[in-house]
Amino acid sequence: MDKKILIRYGELSTKGKNKKDFTKSLQKNIKMHLSDFPEITIHREHDFMFINLNGADVDLVEQRLQRVFGIQSYSVAYEIPRDFDVLIEQVNQLVAEELEARPDIQSFKIAASRSDNQYERDTMAINRDLGAAVSEAFPHLAVKMKKPDLTVRVKVRFDEFIVSFDWHKGSGGLPVGTSQHALLMLSGGIDSPVAGYLAMKRGIRLTAIHFASPPYTSPQALQKAKDLTHKLTHYSGWLDFVEIPFTETQEAIKENVPDRYLMTITRRMMMRIADALRDQFGALAIVNGESIGQVASQTLESMYAINDVTSTPIIRPVVTMDKLEIIELSQKIDTFDLSVQPFEDCCTVFAPASPKTKPRLDEIAYFEERLDIEGLVNRAVQGIKTERLRLHDNAKQEASSFDHLL
Ligand code: ATP
Ligand code: MG
Repeated sequence: MDKKILIRYGELSTKGKNKKDFTKSLQKNIKMHLSDFPEITIHREHDFMFINLNGADVDLVEQRLQRVFGIQSYSVAYEIPRDFDVLIEQVNQLVAEELEARPDIQSFKIAASRSDNQYERDTMAINRDLGAAVSEAFPHLAVKMKKPDLTVRVKVRFDEFIVSFDWHKGSGGLPVGTSQHALLMLSGGIDSPVAGYLAMKRGIRLTAIHFASPPYTSPQALQKAKDLTHKLTHYSGWLDFVEIPFTETQEAIKENVPDRYLMTITRRMMMRIADALRDQFGALAIVNGESIGQVASQTLESMYAINDVTSTPIIRPVVTMDKLEIIELSQKIDTFDLSVQPFEDCCTVFAPASPKTKPRLDEIAYFEERLDIEGLVNRAVQGIKTERLRLHDNAKQEASSFDHLL
């Protein structure tokens, strides 16, 4: 029997005339996530997609699919020739295999649907006749219409039957790339990688930008930000990582601005530089990991003062989440352990003991007069270093780090 994975789109199905673009993107993304399985082919139809495994390991493929946004649900499926006797024989064989894997199964039902409405049996007749054959082969299984332990789904297509069992929930969301491009301000902390994950889940293609202030910040802090970006490629296939030189700006601020305004003005400079880069990269928004009330820079007054430098949409996916909720997500996406490594980033190094929680725009303007804002922004933008990080570089790296165990 030809083993496949059947993918359902969910939310994508409501996209009207854009649907084709969305499902095409999803197909491309799935292909990229599975690019190290050259034997796999993907076949896209209007309401679903088939992944033809051609021998690839189904568990490994399922693990990968869990991370591709835009999949509502999926199931393992089998293509069976369109002959009812063959269907009975092969369904019985598949049910026997299921029973071996899950001996607790006590009940079943058949759920037939037809793409070919001319087929000789209607869905009721398929349910009845195939159900009777399965009951005969497995007399201990009860037929149960509501919540059976096993649902055998049969789809009658023009050229074949497709049989599948359980539906597994996919990651939901929209395919990465279908909601345009934004910059992710990625520090080394817990919040910004989670914010990035959530933005990608809504289909946004991200470029990660990271402010580094050597020698005040260490090479390890920079590596940590790159490693976190690598983790995010598990959901997007690839991501560009941009290192922004921030030392000159931080020194200029430290020299010219009183302690109580260091934090606000540093953030405003970050935002200005991020916005200039956004423009250069043709991105439409900036994503960050701010969360209300977490720290002094994240009061509404502070956000207001920092946001004041731009009218670009600032997307804050974790803004209303509790720290514990954010931590839970960071564990789920496997960034937590990296995030808690103790390498300080540029904000912690220059952090004043007591930043102002209610910054005033008139005072900010007064102190910013002392800075060559345009020059600082331009030089930071000119000094960036960009690197493309790919999921499969990562997979190889991870694989080779296990080599010594083999
Ligand atoms: P995180 O856990 O993401 O570090 P945080 O709770 O430590 O967030 P802040 O240090 O106030 O919060 O930073 C708020 C946001 O500003 C971060 O979530 C991130 O989006 C951005 N940010 C802070 N530092 C940097 C940096 N060095 N490079 C890029 N973005 C940064
Ligand atoms: Mg931080």
